Formats: sequence, structure tokens, C-alpha cells
Amino acid sequence: MKVEAVEVRNVLTRASGYLRDVCSHSLQPYRGCSFGRSLCGVGCYVRHNPWVTAGRAWGEFLEVRGNAAESYRKHAPRERAWAREARGGFGIFLSSATDPFLPHEQRFGVTRSVLAAMQDEPPDVLIVQTHSDAVLDHRAALLALAERCDLRVHLSIETDRERLPGLPPPAVPVARRIEAAAALHAAGLRVVATVAPLLPIADPDAFFARLASACDAVVIDHFIGGDGSPDGARTRRTPLPDAMERVHPGASTLAYRDEMVAAARRHLPSRVGVGADGFAGRWLDHPGQRAVS
Ligand code: SF4
Repeated sequence: MKVEAVEVRNVLTRASGYLRDVCSHSLQPYRGCSFGRSLCGVGCYVRHNPWVTAGRAWGEFLEVRGNAAESYRKHAPRERAWAREARGGFGIFLSSATDPFLPHEQRFGVTRSVLAAMQDEPPDVLIVQTHSDAVLDHRAALLALAERCDLRVHLSIETDRERLPGLPPPAVPVARRIEAAAALHAAGLRVVATVAPLLPIADPDAFFARLASACDAVVIDHFIGGDGSPDGARTRRTPLPDAMERVHPGASTLAYRDEMVAAARRHLPSRVGVGADGFAGRWLDHPGQRAVS
């Protein structure tokens, strides 16, 4: 993997597309992702973004934005004012195009410095999205930030299966991610399991029962509708749909998503969100809930 230091002009990106209704901004401490060659990287939506990849293979480059915290401190006041006026609140998604707690974070500490900067310039809403149990290393900082803003930790847990035949293993085992969710939940943080993109689940009732005890809520998102292309066309160019169908025929259809939503609702009544609504914190049976609550 090629790792290089870069300077970012403004680390706060105004949200558009899928995230437009979820938050006002996204924030990437890194560009590229060292989890890109693991299971989640196979269907990762970012790998199709030429502006991010610039022709580079996904999972083989990482730009370290060492000035991210400084940039955040500089731009947060103006972006907050714009967001409150234009979007109804200053909500940050950390992160949509990388993982904030990938292994290089231990060495470079960019996310840690950004979380520290947010203590001084808190957003109104912070959604911390990760595939890694390394989020536990930041428990104290997150608890402190939760005192200053509306914070949710989203842990990606796409299935109960540790392997999908023919595909690489996940960056972090499923069991460890569920344990991390439970630990953060027990510490008092609001934790959401993001089953996104939904992969074939071996035992839906056992899976959602386990998530119900480890998390506050669950979001289910299928690659159809979730990957930003009509009918999941982007993801259909990857090996993911075929692998899903081999494990569970029908898993690459929206009917399967609906079946899993029904299973989740049996165990987490009023605590299940679907697609962008779920990422925004809007749960089924709570139609009046605020987008950023
Ligand atoms: S951790 Fe997220 S950004 Fe990184 S490869 Fe996986 S899905 Fe993509």
C-alpha cells in the first residue's frame, strides 16, 4: 500500500447525494482506505468514485491528511453557520469514504486529533461510522464529545457470517465488532449497528437478538438503493452479488432486504431504520423523528 502525507484545504465536505439527507458535512481524516482489500472493500461504494481513486486500485493507497484537525478548527465556525442556515444543523459524518479507525490511525493519529478539535468546536450532530473495534481506543474522547453534541457510533456489521466463500475475510471479525458495540453501549454511548450493505445472514433471529442487546438501533441498507446507482448497477460490476446469491439465493434482491427488516423489527421494535432514513436516525414507526436526532 502506498501511504503519503497530504494537506487538505477544507476537511469539511458539504454533503450531497446519499448523505444529503443524513448530515450537513462529511469529514475524511484519510483519503483511501487500508480496509479496501478486505470483505467490505469488495462492494465498497467509494471504489467507484474516480475523484477519490484517481485511477488507483482501491485498498492500495492512503493519503494521510495530517492537517485535518487544523483545517477543522479553521473552517468549523463558517461551516456551522452555513449548515444551521441551509441544512437545519451542523451534522458531521465521520467518515463516508474511509474508515476513521483503520490501522494507520495508531501511527498517524489524525482521527484522534480531529476528535480533540471537535471538543473545542463541537458539531451539533456527530455520526462516527466504522468497521473497526479500534473505536474502543477512543471511548474516552467519544464520551466527552457526547456531552457536547448529539453523537452516535455506527458500527458496520453486515452479516453474522465470518466468511463469504470466494471473498476475502472481513477486516475485523464480526464477533469482535459486536463485542465493541456492546462495550460502547454499556459505557453509555448511543450505538447503531449498520447492516450495510446487507449480506446474507445465516440465522437472522439470533443475529438481530444479539444486536438488540448490544446496540440502540439497527440500520439495514441494501446495495440496491445504497450504492448510488440505478438498481445497484455499480455493485453488480463487482463479485459481491454473485457471492451473495451463492450463499443465499435471492439475497441480491430488495425482497431479501425486506425479509431481514421484518426479522430485525421482531427484535428491535421501533429501533430499525432502512437506507438513508436509518443513517439519519429515522426509525420505522417513528415517522416524525428529526433527521439529525
Ligand atoms: S472500511 Fe468503509 S471505506 Fe474502507 S473499504 Fe470498507 S466500506 Fe470502504
